[in-house]
Amino acid sequence: MEKSLLIVVPCYNEEEILHASHEKLSVYLQNLKTKGLVAESSKLCLVDDGSKDKTWEIIADLTSKNPSTAGIKLSKNFGHQSACLAGLLENTEDFDAFITIDADLQDDINVIEKMVKSFLDGSHVVYGVRDDRSSDSFFKRMTAESFYKVMQKMGVPVVFNHADFRLMSKEVIRELASYKEVNLFIRGIIPTIGFKSDKVFYARKIREAGESKYPLSKMLAFAWNGITSFSTTPMRLVLWFGIFNFLLALGITAYVLYSKLVGITVQGWTSTLLPMAYFSGSNMIALGLIGEYLGKVYQEIKARPRYIVEQSQNLNG
Ligand code: UDP
Ligand code: MG
Repeated sequence: MEKSLLIVVPCYNEEEILHASHEKLSVYLQNLKTKGLVAESSKLCLVDDGSKDKTWEIIADLTSKNPSTAGIKLSKNFGHQSACLAGLLENTEDFDAFITIDADLQDDINVIEKMVKSFLDGSHVVYGVRDDRSSDSFFKRMTAESFYKVMQKMGVPVVFNHADFRLMSKEVIRELASYKEVNLFIRGIIPTIGFKSDKVFYARKIREAGESKYPLSKMLAFAWNGITSFSTTPMRLVLWFGIFNFLLALGITAYVLYSKLVGITVQGWTSTLLPMAYFSGSNMIALGLIGEYLGKVYQEIKARPRYIVEQSQNLNG
């Protein structure tokens, strides 16, 4: 029996590019169906992540004209990760395999066929990996690549140069559903789920219309979330930092006592102020970092919904 595929596309203010992307993806999907690689029931699922422009109107129009296109409207902007999650979890039992891909199609859709073939050969996860970033600006490339390196150093299990373009089997999505964290970092979770995985390589393209919804501030927030959701290494670094400071303080104590003994006291202004500034500063950093983790515990313990569906179209099968 042929396996069915759902392609999930998170969309936030994508009115400029959605028509073109939908056209390319549906032609591609139709082609896979004609080749007999995926079942006729395979679909696209466009998830509107609380867009402020005409994105939902466009999605509603596309779904009314194409039975193979489904739409989900989230009640507000929940972020890229939650939008992907909504597309995956709302459809888990209706498809055999799932692919997430950005609406701007910067990731090469032509490797989808390879992903599907690898899935049919028994892979449960197929990572799309960018092996050529020459289309990204120097700055984007540098920040993005150091992002993966820092992540790996901190012990976050990310696949180098893989973002969220990947195929996952129904079994993997079922497991993903049991990861209840609110601070979502899907690309870090998937490798921890296990199962047989594979990689396909492609060159990342430029965004053809609209602008990036990931400015530097969002990218940094995302990276920070990835690190603090998966790794306690920063806390350990603080501990080492504390130990280092303690040793330094011992040195200063020795110096102070020595000064007292040989009688060069009074001037001690510099040696009082400097360590005070230094130690209160580093204490503050340590406290702030602990606060970051505590804040996360607070958010996780409330376990608020990670997305809220306002309405949907053409879902189920
Ligand atoms: N996106 C989303 N919610 C957000 C921000 C972005 O669903 O709050 C979607 C966006 O529509 C796109 C994908 O996430 O499909 C990636 O965004 P973008 O292409 O702007 O990021 P970049 O490729 O520049 O990192
Ligand atoms: Mg993009």
